[in-house]
Amino acid sequence: MRPPYLLLDVDGVLVPFPGADGSTSATHARHDVVPTGRGADDPVTIWLNPAHGLMLMDVISTGLVAPVWCTSWRQDAATLIGPLLGLPHLPHVDLPRPKITTSQPNGYLWKRDYVDVWLADAPAVWIDDDFTGLDHAWAVERTARGAVTLLIQPDPRTGMQAEHVAEARAWAGRLLAMRTGASGASSGTDAGPHKEDRTRATRGGSGAVWCC
Ligand SMILES: [Mg+2]
Repeated sequence: MRPPYLLLDVDGVLVPFPGADGSTSATHARHDVVPTGRGADDPVTIWLNPAHGLMLMDVISTGLVAPVWCTSWRQDAATLIGPLLGLPHLPHVDLPRPKITTSQPNGYLWKRDYVDVWLADAPAVWIDDDFTGLDHAWAVERTARGAVTLLIQPDPRTGMQAEHVAEARAWAGRLLAMRTGASGASSGTDAGPHKEDRTRATRGGSGAVWCC
């Protein structure tokens, strides 16, 4: 039984959007990084909260989730962002580079179609700031067919908060308990979450949808 994936966005989650006056939170420190394809004389300035590394390591170290970058930073998240937060090298979803001018060109997050294929039927908790109602409906549909899915949506102006990570951890813990219980109730096979849990979906106060 494999743990659910923890899909992690960067912009609007680990790197919050600046305020209208260009201000950034005092919790975040400035870094200049050079993404793939840019020259050393053309760095990108980002702002990172060192506490995010500790928060994520707290949940990663439990083994309850399998963390994966899911961001337009692609492999640069693993080589540039992760080390600045003290994270180990993590795999990434190899997203394409579509020519789009909005993150929701079809009314839902552009990454979703690729993530849907990448995940297949695997359970996942996905932290991203750009979900729409269609993405939340997708999460409910996945959950209903047994691919339990939790979407957590931070405010891009403030980024990921401790409660978002805590919610992911608690969800993964509940999922493990349900899967373990289901296994015990079905002679050792992984029968997935109980039906009554799969069909329950409520919108949480932190902008998340709890889908199992
Ligand atoms: Mg984002």
